[in-house]
Amino acid sequence: MAPNVQPKMKAFETKSKPAEIRSSNIEAAKAVADAIRTSLGPRGMDKMIQSGKGDVTITNDGATILKQMKLVHPAAKMLVELSKAQDVEAGDGTTSVVVLAGSFLEAAQKLLEKGIHPTVISESFQKASVKAVEILEAMATPMKLEDRHSLLMSATTSLGSKVVSQHSALLAPLAVDAVLKVIDPLKDHDVDLRDIRVIEKLGGTVDDTELVEGLVLDQRSAGSGGPTRMEKAKIGLIQFCISPPKTDMDNQVVVSDYNAMDRVLREERAYILNVAKQVKKAGCNVLLVQKSILRDAVSELALHFFDKMKIMVVKDIEREDIEFITKTLNCRPIASLDHFLPEYMASADLVESVPTGTSKVVKITGIQNVGKTVSVIVRGSNKLVLEEAARSLHDALCVIRCLVKKRFIIAGGGAPETELAYQLTQYAQGLPGVEAYCLRAFAESLEVIPMTLAENAGLNPIATVTDLRNKHACGFKSSGINVRKGAITNMLDEGVAQPLLVTTSAITLASETVRSILKIDDIVNALY
Ligand code: ADP
Ligand code: MG
Repeated sequence: MAPNVQPKMKAFETKSKPAEIRSSNIEAAKAVADAIRTSLGPRGMDKMIQSGKGDVTITNDGATILKQMKLVHPAAKMLVELSKAQDVEAGDGTTSVVVLAGSFLEAAQKLLEKGIHPTVISESFQKASVKAVEILEAMATPMKLEDRHSLLMSATTSLGSKVVSQHSALLAPLAVDAVLKVIDPLKDHDVDLRDIRVIEKLGGTVDDTELVEGLVLDQRSAGSGGPTRMEKAKIGLIQFCISPPKTDMDNQVVVSDYNAMDRVLREERAYILNVAKQVKKAGCNVLLVQKSILRDAVSELALHFFDKMKIMVVKDIEREDIEFITKTLNCRPIASLDHFLPEYMASADLVESVPTGTSKVVKITGIQNVGKTVSVIVRGSNKLVLEEAARSLHDALCVIRCLVKKRFIIAGGGAPETELAYQLTQYAQGLPGVEAYCLRAFAESLEVIPMTLAENAGLNPIATVTDLRNKHACGFKSSGINVRKGAITNMLDEGVAQPLLVTTSAITLASETVRSILKIDDIVNALY
């Protein structure tokens, strides 16, 4: 499936070479855009991606598809970067941005064939994209974060085009709640998605996905006979090891007689017992232990003592999770036994190891002074669905984040693109010659979105888009393609809306990439 277009290199034909390089770049990038066009919209298809190792991924997410594509041509790789950029900037619209870029490139190619200089095309496209953002901002509807209906509508639209769309009644409110829990709607104008921890657990169905107010640890409780449930927990998070110390170098200790061996074992026992006693003395009854790469962080013997002392132990906490855990529990990581003091610990009503699907998780709820974080346990009956559910949830979270950043929504279903095409064409009429011509081409190429939505929904694209164009000419700014009914309707009434930021960023980023592709007139192979 990977478009494998090799650049047609003809050395020594100085005059035609730049044009050839340019057209080969455009062809390669367009091939990529064409490959994912069929994935756009609620009726879009999914892709099955097979990795070299044989791993399979099923997805509808543009960024995920492109990231895994094996591409040879450098210009094709630019589109991968483009979709990644959209993923970072907006999180949704990663297919749209590439489809738009492909369409802009096609327009540029036609303009080049007419003999217009690439720089002129590039500058006109820049002007057009700035104007497009202005038009979009003027037509967007402002919203407030208290307006739950709009938030839900946007999240549902984003989930609507995914494999897990039938679960959007559950996932959309979950995404909205998760984001609203971690921000202060009055002050915050950005969301740190790291505050929302998504844990994927195999088993059950997507319907079992839940939002946990508190902390969920992916590990099970260690030890065999110890407690797995603790009420009124005092939680300590340690970063030191409770196991016999190891020497730095690889040296040997030769034990010659049984007496000496006994002494070694007794000392180890005494050392570990001392640590366990101090932990108990500080009042701790739930111990979280950071993973150590040098040795086992908690030895079997230590676990045995903790079991006897009725202290619940969760080991193998990853280094990168420490920040999230301390933020949630409002505690400090303890780096040495000397600092194992009650004031560094957290309190919670309940710590419980619960079976989830095919494995277990540890849930900590009723945390005192809980930080502004939430955990989501995503469930799925098989790995493919589970991973796609997590990716789709990520898109929905990003959509809500966009609305926190920029509190405007616009209609979906090709409405903004058609309106832009209409208004930009009118704007072009007031501009001089070549520029107007380029702008009109840009405007027309925006219609690729409604065109593709119609195609993917099995409607007649030409008839539908013409119909849509007429509606917009009559002033119905929110008219779009209702793929379910196969007709043109007001998209906001249908509940199809998306954040303004997704569309503006898609148009800005796509035109930026197209401009840089246009400005390349040679590909040079580097020495190294
Ligand atoms: P992307 O990766 O670009 O977000 P999607 O597959 O999610 O791609 O498709 C997004 C496009 O589908 C947007 O243009 C959006 O307006 C449109 N869309 C989403 N839901 C609907 C719907 N119910 N009816 C019509 N168009 C829709
Ligand atoms: Mg989407």
